[in-house]
Amino acid sequence: SPPATQPVASPRIKVCVRKRPLHAREHPAFDTVTAQPGGAFGPANINLHEPKTHVDLTKDIVTHTFMFDHVFDENCTNKEVYSSTAKTLVKGMFDGARGTVFAYGQTGSGKTHTMFGQGPNSKGMYEYACEDVLEHLNVAKRSGRGLTLYVSFFEIYGGHVYDLFSSKARVQLLEDQAGVIRVLGLREEAVTTVEELLRLAKVGSDARTTGATDANPDSSRSHAVFQMRLRDDETGSLVGKFSLVDLAGSERAADRVVVERRERFEGAEINKSLLALKECIRALHRSGSGGGGHIPFRASKLTQILRDSFMGRKSQTVMIATISPGSNSAEHSLNTLRYADRVK
Ligand code: ADP
Ligand code: MG
Repeated sequence: SPPATQPVASPRIKVCVRKRPLHAREHPAFDTVTAQPGGAFGPANINLHEPKTHVDLTKDIVTHTFMFDHVFDENCTNKEVYSSTAKTLVKGMFDGARGTVFAYGQTGSGKTHTMFGQGPNSKGMYEYACEDVLEHLNVAKRSGRGLTLYVSFFEIYGGHVYDLFSSKARVQLLEDQAGVIRVLGLREEAVTTVEELLRLAKVGSDARTTGATDANPDSSRSHAVFQMRLRDDETGSLVGKFSLVDLAGSERAADRVVVERRERFEGAEINKSLLALKECIRALHRSGSGGGGHIPFRASKLTQILRDSFMGRKSQTVMIATISPGSNSAEHSLNTLRYADRVK
């Protein structure tokens, strides 16, 4: 830990859990997960104004208790989740920060709901991030700071990268001598208004969900990465960066599906990337600010691509582990909580 004289910045890694509400078709008796107010193990009736940090999951009569930086219950809105997770990372872009927010969890647990919302009446985190970033950008412009915002949106599937702004065109990865991965030919759009930014993001999320086939998988099998980059107009150099990552369904890591006639196991690929992600975050945690020590970025495309967002003193990472409340999901929810627990 840093010397007491140093100001303690916001933590580099924050691990949160979000429990979605029961669907109408799910029976209330199936609700097995309760989020507890910090420090107490009282009734599951939660005061939203208190910070919540505990999760109890009861499965086969055994109650498993976990502690996280923040637990969002089923009444929390995307706006509340955004305000206590991504908001500071978005602002940080203007001070050189590189922020990454991951949604991790079983298919159907609320990753996409959290990241990309559900249409005009339900904004996702990316919309709040877009609104904020352009507000900050306008303030910067008024004070004479020349900055331009660029966005890109891509999917990682089976070790390849597909551009969601170009109808899922496959783009090439190139590793330079320093081991930095560059994504060649990825569309990066300069954006000046919220409307433009939201229109682009919608193009990308539509491309994600249409025409799922074997060659073009459904979104539960791919990692979607939405990135914003801020560049200095004079020097062209990168000022800050922010990424939202909607990970493949965690249960897919156990899949054994052969695709493209070749012996390629996409479950193994997903498993590899989710493991690599966990190991990288843990290694970063151990090494403290500024890096040092071996961090296994090379173990997957996902971690290779996100490497530069993880590195450096001003990198900040938020993991949002999403869980379904139903008892039929208890095994997966427990796995998700364990994964998130290991990342801390
Ligand atoms: P995932 O992306 O993890 O597979 P989704 O985000 O698609 O899961 O969510 C599955 C379903 O649950 C969707 O119909 C979504 O509307 C609903 N849902 C998820 N989270 C919430 C939430 N916090 N509030 C209301 N509905 C939610
Ligand atoms: Mg999804």
